[in-house]
Amino acid sequence: MTNAMNEYQHILEIRPNPCVIHIDFKPLYANGAFARFSGLKSADQILEMESLMVLINPEEREDAQFRYQKAFAEQQTEPKVIAHTDLLGNPVMVEIIDKLIDWHGQQAVCTFISIVTDTINKERHLKKLAEQDPLTQLHNRRYILNKLTKFHREDLAKEFFLAIVDIDYFKKINDQYGHFVGDKTLQQLAELLRGFIGENDYLARLGGEEFILLIRSGSAQHVIARLESLRTSIENHHFIIPQDNTDDKLRIRCTLSVGLTQIQQGEKIDSSYIRADKALYTAKHQGRNQVIISD
Ligand code: GH3
Ligand code: MG
Ligand code: MG
Repeated sequence: MTNAMNEYQHILEIRPNPCVIHIDFKPLYANGAFARFSGLKSADQILEMESLMVLINPEEREDAQFRYQKAFAEQQTEPKVIAHTDLLGNPVMVEIIDKLIDWHGQQAVCTFISIVTDTINKERHLKKLAEQDPLTQLHNRRYILNKLTKFHREDLAKEFFLAIVDIDYFKKINDQYGHFVGDKTLQQLAELLRGFIGENDYLARLGGEEFILLIRSGSAQHVIARLESLRTSIENHHFIIPQDNTDDKLRIRCTLSVGLTQIQQGEKIDSSYIRADKALYTAKHQGRNQVIISD
């Protein structure tokens, strides 16, 4: 028994991940990794503590109690990821598993900790990349689709208008000045659109010279007025594009056509897009440089 226990303790000792054994948060054993994780020099300092609770963020304490009881009832808890701050104030993301063990003849809980900050950051970074347009750094189509799906699910969709914003005769800019100048124009327009949106709006580049806006508003007139002011400000704007090997700058002008629709609750996810696209088609057909709302 003693040999087996020593072996067990030895395994925990060399484990690179933090772990601590406790009864009702009174520490019985901690490995060196747990001491370092807690911002202390040695495991002995942990064992001098009355309770591990001081190491746990206040907002996590109730859940820690709950998991402790769950480990007793079910032998082991599901892994849980939480934000943790060590005693030195360093924030980390950790995954915690609590397991019921026999410690020198007593039932105790061993808390295993894995630091997953890097994994979580990588996941967040990948999600960001997956929802971002590389040319303009705006969000992309997938992001808007995710938002739309979420708003439909949460019964919020009807509070939004959907607008498709398309540059008029953009192909001419490419043809006349080259693709690079076209790209610069798209990037500058993206910045102007970024400045246009409010905190209740969502913006993405759909692809090519098409952008999409989700605008939260209760008034079609108000949304139309905002889009009209966007349209006129672009109409009067000069896109200043630097050129390679010369101090000369190109001054490009363009106009926008906009198709607008109000999203309806319960409709299919693509229905509002199809209506806005039809309105955009009408705007193009009627001479461009205008905002049209679907009926
Ligand atoms: P309309 O007024 O009917 O919208 O005419 P348009 O020329 O703007 O539209 P069209 O769809 O005929 O052409 C869009 C052009 O956008 C064609 C394509 O070469 C160009 N384009 C698409 N993506 C990019 C891009 O990432 N960079 C650049 N520079 N051009 C792009
Ligand atoms: Mg166009
Ligand atoms: Mg287009």
